[in-house]
Amino acid sequence: MSSMPVAGIRAGHPGEAGRAADLVVRNAKVYTGDPSHPRASAVAIRDGLIIAVGDDADVIPQIGPRTRVVDALGRRAVPGLNDSHLHVVRGGLNYVLELRWDGVPTLRQALAMLRTQAERTPPGQWVRVVGGWSADQFAERRLPTVAELNAAAPDTPVFVLHLYQSALMNRAALRAAGFDRDTPDPVGGQIVRGHDGQPTGLLLAAPGALLLYSTLAKAPTLDEAEKAASTRHFLRELNRFGLTSAIDAAGGFQSFPENYGTVMQLAQNGELTLRIAYHLFPQTAGQELDDLARWVATVRPGDGDEWLRLNGAGENLTWAAADFENFTEPRPELGPYEAGFEQAVRLLMEHGWGFRLHASYDETIRRDLAVFERLAAEGLFPGGNRWLFDHAETVSSASLDRIAALGGAVSVQNRLSFQGEAFVRRYGAAAAAEAPPVRAMLERGLTVGAGTDATRVSSYNPWVALHWLVSGRAVGGRTLRPAANRLSREEALELYTLGGARLTGEQEVKGRLRVGCYADFAVLSADYLTVDEADIPHIESVLTVVGGRIVHSVQEHEGLAPELPAVVPLWSPVARFGGYQATPAPSLTGVRQAAQVAEAAAASDEQREWRQARGLLVPGPGGPALDDPCFL
Ligand SMILES: [Zn+2]
Repeated sequence: MSSMPVAGIRAGHPGEAGRAADLVVRNAKVYTGDPSHPRASAVAIRDGLIIAVGDDADVIPQIGPRTRVVDALGRRAVPGLNDSHLHVVRGGLNYVLELRWDGVPTLRQALAMLRTQAERTPPGQWVRVVGGWSADQFAERRLPTVAELNAAAPDTPVFVLHLYQSALMNRAALRAAGFDRDTPDPVGGQIVRGHDGQPTGLLLAAPGALLLYSTLAKAPTLDEAEKAASTRHFLRELNRFGLTSAIDAAGGFQSFPENYGTVMQLAQNGELTLRIAYHLFPQTAGQELDDLARWVATVRPGDGDEWLRLNGAGENLTWAAADFENFTEPRPELGPYEAGFEQAVRLLMEHGWGFRLHASYDETIRRDLAVFERLAAEGLFPGGNRWLFDHAETVSSASLDRIAALGGAVSVQNRLSFQGEAFVRRYGAAAAAEAPPVRAMLERGLTVGAGTDATRVSSYNPWVALHWLVSGRAVGGRTLRPAANRLSREEALELYTLGGARLTGEQEVKGRLRVGCYADFAVLSADYLTVDEADIPHIESVLTVVGGRIVHSVQEHEGLAPELPAVVPLWSPVARFGGYQATPAPSLTGVRQAAQVAEAAAASDEQREWRQARGLLVPGPGGPALDDPCFL
């Protein structure tokens, strides 16, 4: 079946191979990521794998009567994106419950969305805005006030999380959470109070976010069927931006195996539209070794298949070693954690488990490295296991050398796109310029994966992260990174594709478009390699293919991807607003205006014909409207 009329292409004779391609995408500007063959115009796919990359002549022999042929209309195609640090499992379980302010350009619009959503939310439920935005992105450059939340939602509980720094609650949410003058502040958190001792509605991570998360956990969750539907819609939302893979970072309130059941069931049903490599994260301080010991005895890294696979432990191994990155607060001074941490790493190494490790600051990284080096001296580390640091915003050159010597990798995220202003205020512009020092990592030959750390800090939109890597700019427009620490578009894309594949040991089958690799790619709304730099955050995919299946299709390809069941519950903010709120790309705004003028002109031509047909007075083009009562 041919989904688009394709001039000049007829079925060939897939002779020797025996079977024809399932899907051919042609007339694309394909960037393959394969240095030996970087450019192509057509890709042929069978059984989820690429069987030919080249031009029409290369794919014609693969086309049979049942091959779907898609004309990409000359658009740019790239290997599918891989977010190497995304809380995708947790994000999926909550997606349809959340009002996303991702991409919203003004606080005014954000509050209008909040007001509408409060009216649509049934009693007992909450309106939750849980990350993916920053005050820096709003034209007003400020947070909402509690008074504004109360005005927008007089009776519906509202919880608004701002990065890992703070949360705002309206009056109804304070009531629903049971916070009053007698509620004590938990360790590492502050419930801000007024003169009367009553909570004002502001919660602070001081510096830990447990208060923020545990308050959010008081809101009702979804039932099993809704969680599955929510996850499917979230994965489709990621496909919308050309994402085809993610490496999950687990996280707080993400317990194994309980909170992995939904995604495992979807994998079993063949209903995942994004490949997920996942990690296991001990949840309870003091019991980490029990959890890890249970896991190494019952599951193994590599368990699963190419859609859903266990990749190791992390991003926390022990809570005491976690340096929480609230850049509005001083760097947390961690107590002695090495003994328990060493036990955890030793256990993992002895059982052939790799890991990822959350570490924002060089002070933490140096202490972690000292533990790894002790184990390396015993011949235990890394023992052939893959391991990586996550975040590493302030990692030093000396630490990078030590990471390289131990065969480690790094996963970097654009957290400073959203927290850049706060980081600059505390540590200065020079530190922000190197946070993290991606160029220095690449110069040492380290494997580097790129990503976002969505959904509770950054947005999941990969093009915002790619823009940050390429331009050095934060969402508020401030240039944080000098040219020396920026990447070319091709380099940034490689971190977002092949870099991620390397972190899961899949570099031979993922991250490049070449024969034998997974057929994971995206056809883009604008040419990433040539479009104005300021337009990069506005790119989306018009056609996303994962394992040869079309999982997202819009514009000229609308209807090719199977439709998902409607969002449930019906009051879901996603049902009303969707996810990321796209705005027109800056360079397109002029084009759009021109198109509107042309549309208006066409309308007036029609009107002239309509009047002529009825014998009404018709002015010539450009002349005064003689039949206008004002002129008569
Ligand atoms: Zn982290």
